Amino acid sequence: MRKPVVAIVGRPNVGKSTLFNRIIGERIAIVEDIPGVTRDRLYSEAEWQGKVFDLIDTGGLEFSEDLITTKVREQIEKAIAESDLILFVCDSREGITSTDEAVAKNLRKSEKPVILVANKVDDYLNPPANFYDLYRLGLGEPFPVSAANGTNVGDLLDLVISKLNFPEDYEDEDPVVKIAVVGRPNVGKSSLVNALLGEERVVVSDIPGTTRDAIDTPMWYQGKPYLLIDTAGMRRKSRIEEDLERYSVNRSIKAIRRADVALLVISAEEGVTEQDKKIAGLIHEYGRGVIIVVNKWDLIEKDAKTADRYKEHIYFELGFLKYAPVIFVSAKTGQRLNKLMELVDKVSFEHQKRVATSILNQVLREAVGLNPPPADRGRPLKIYYATQIETKPPTFALFVNDAELMHFSYLRYLENVFRQNFGFEGTTIKFVLRERG
Ligand code: GDP
Ligand code: GDP
Repeated sequence: MRKPVVAIVGRPNVGKSTLFNRIIGERIAIVEDIPGVTRDRLYSEAEWQGKVFDLIDTGGLEFSEDLITTKVREQIEKAIAESDLILFVCDSREGITSTDEAVAKNLRKSEKPVILVANKVDDYLNPPANFYDLYRLGLGEPFPVSAANGTNVGDLLDLVISKLNFPEDYEDEDPVVKIAVVGRPNVGKSSLVNALLGEERVVVSDIPGTTRDAIDTPMWYQGKPYLLIDTAGMRRKSRIEEDLERYSVNRSIKAIRRADVALLVISAEEGVTEQDKKIAGLIHEYGRGVIIVVNKWDLIEKDAKTADRYKEHIYFELGFLKYAPVIFVSAKTGQRLNKLMELVDKVSFEHQKRVATSILNQVLREAVGLNPPPADRGRPLKIYYATQIETKPPTFALFVNDAELMHFSYLRYLENVFRQNFGFEGTTIKFVLRERG
């Protein structure tokens, strides 16, 4: 079972980032510059009363007037697709705007639980006059908080926790490896799934306007159970190209969230496209195991260097996914599909690997000794010790004197050292900083 996901939505300047930072506390969201993906989104783990959930700040999209409806719709749809609960943040000083109304309308239509957060109630006993205006949004009682000074945020979190379902055991040792097959249309996802299953599956025809959810297909391979989460075979007639793209991205998100290992399928003929990058970014962001599957390899004229050159192209375009293995296959001829399944096992293993604290700290001490953190602001960063707090993906807590002193490039360095020593092929590594006086 996955952790529940809570999304913060709302128009710019209502205080979403302030609330996000308030909730995640000292945890640091590691944000990377992935084209088109994380620039406007923050993602972090949050904890309240011993319950752990993922928090997404859907970001401060700046809309121009004519873009308002599409952009808002996009943001909301994404949040709805990804999350179990939505915190819709409004500004109780400014009151309701047309954007708020548009967002509220979308949220009312969705089935997702929503908490209407009335931010900037800095003085609880004297809420701003516009606070009462928020009842008009038709989303129930506004919950007054001040993200800036923290008033009522604890009570808000109590409410959040009460509305979520927490799995009994996160480390539920499910022996079934869940594989999501994702990629843009026509790269060969259905063909790949069929080839892996070794049979033609019935694919429901394109009926305009119909939607089907991802199909889960149990699969046995060499005596081991797997579950294929397949986004292929789902087509919807759409008048607008952009609509179709958004639709398939939403589908991918659902599949990726549930998977242990995502197969990012790319067409050898076309190489890495913008949409491939987006999907790759999502896999990275969600910390799933990942294999880059270059399909239709049978169509490529090859010499001894073709595969290496192709790999270079991929890592150049998907620089943030350098930890992901690349495999060249053909769903049509069946080339390397056995190898692909071996890789799935390998990546799944790495994704849930645990490193013993003693060895981890030995490696950490050596790394710090070899290349101490730069002390550019006078006070040096001290890293006391590390421990692995989670798997899927591997997550390490670093106990430090002052989290502010940690530089992103130093985390990069540690990540590289950890990879050299422990592997972790095909999975992201996350760091969480904890301060100790
Ligand atoms: P976002 O664009 O929705 O992420 O909004 P920000 O978190 O960047 O906040 C926008 C502005 O509102 C900033 O100047 C914040 O300091 C201010 N702000 C956020 N929360 C509160 C609050 O609870 N009370 C007051 N008075 N100001 C706040
Ligand atoms: P999906 O939209 O990603 O599910 O893609 P499909 O599985 O429907 O495949 C799209 C097209 O590519 C079909 O015409 C397939 O026959 C073709 N195709 C899929 N895999 C391969 C492959 O490995 N080699 C070749 N030559 N064609 C393929």
